[in-house]
Amino acid sequence: MTSGPAMDKSPRTVIRDEIRTLSAYHVPDSRGLVKLDAMENPYALPEDLRVELGRLAAEASLNRYPDASAVQLKQRLRVALGVPEAMDLLLGNGSDELIQILALAVNRPGAVLLGVDPSFVMFRMIALFTGLKYVGVPLGPDFNLDTPRLLAAVRERAPALIFIAYPNNPTGNLFDADTLRTLIQAAPGLVVIDEAYHAFAGRSFIPELDRYPNLLVMRTLSKLGLAGLRLGILIGRPDWLAELDKLRLPYNVNVLTQVVAARVLERTDILDEQAAAIRSERMRVLSALKLLPGVRAYSSDANFILFRASHADAVFGGLKARGVLIKNLNGAHSSLADCLRVTIGTPQENSRFLEALAQSLPQAA
Ligand SMILES: *Cc1c(COP(=O)(O)O)cnc(C)c1O
Repeated sequence: MTSGPAMDKSPRTVIRDEIRTLSAYHVPDSRGLVKLDAMENPYALPEDLRVELGRLAAEASLNRYPDASAVQLKQRLRVALGVPEAMDLLLGNGSDELIQILALAVNRPGAVLLGVDPSFVMFRMIALFTGLKYVGVPLGPDFNLDTPRLLAAVRERAPALIFIAYPNNPTGNLFDADTLRTLIQAAPGLVVIDEAYHAFAGRSFIPELDRYPNLLVMRTLSKLGLAGLRLGILIGRPDWLAELDKLRLPYNVNVLTQVVAARVLERTDILDEQAAAIRSERMRVLSALKLLPGVRAYSSDANFILFRASHADAVFGGLKARGVLIKNLNGAHSSLADCLRVTIGTPQENSRFLEALAQSLPQAA
């Protein structure tokens, strides 16, 4: 075996082309800014609960591997999420990991992952990471499902896996439930309804799991106030989850996440109260946005609001200069031209955002 000096051992020759042309997932620096860019819950847990979580963390056996099947945590999740007796749960290090497990599991040569565009970018990214073909069906006017186009794509591309975010990110709307039922029935493979924003929408396909043999529902604790814990939940029939579980890396949910999440899930009253505060602020922010000249705000069933404003790049920059970080979606997709997305924060944060926005709009200059 020779390895002459001419042999190129750089990433260029070894790393897959489609990975090298990617830019890494960009997390902007938010230090010193009002952080309204990532759909985080702005509220902390009450002091007494935090002290108790500290004690639980101190008592946890960090020298041991975690409970590989997270029995106690799953039991708490069953109760908190209302998972039917006949259904199982699969836990992931955030729902991102569950999306990856699903993509890996169906990845036969030529297999297709279908989503709608614009939607959660990780569906497309993970298809690319795992080598699945991604088919993105454009949404119709006002970001609703284009039913004929969607069903035609399902017929023609026979996707092994379909992801629908319900409500959708970054548009914030709930798609028509009857269209989704038609989609589930027409699909030749799995359909995953991603209910990351359930706390702010209240609608769920969990009660319909027993009606469809190819349906799974995904949840996460991230948007509920526990983004730092990284816990995603896939819910569905045991036969599906038993296959997917084979791809889960052992101990993917760490000891601290297990003990902390299990305890916080006994206090869903706190999480519910926080979600209710966010929903009520969402209404206030939406009304205020609708009064701003040159702003088109879309109704939302999530904890963020999508809005359009001309010169969105400049508006985004103006907000940042005034200490408020939101998400600039201008350029992310052809239907998102001049679109910005703001996460609902505390009343004070939202007021600061609205003030800074009024000062950043082109008319204000
Ligand atoms: C934020 C979000 C998630 C959450 O992902 P985690 O990995 O659980 O934090 C999942 N799906 C959608 C549509 C989201 O917007």
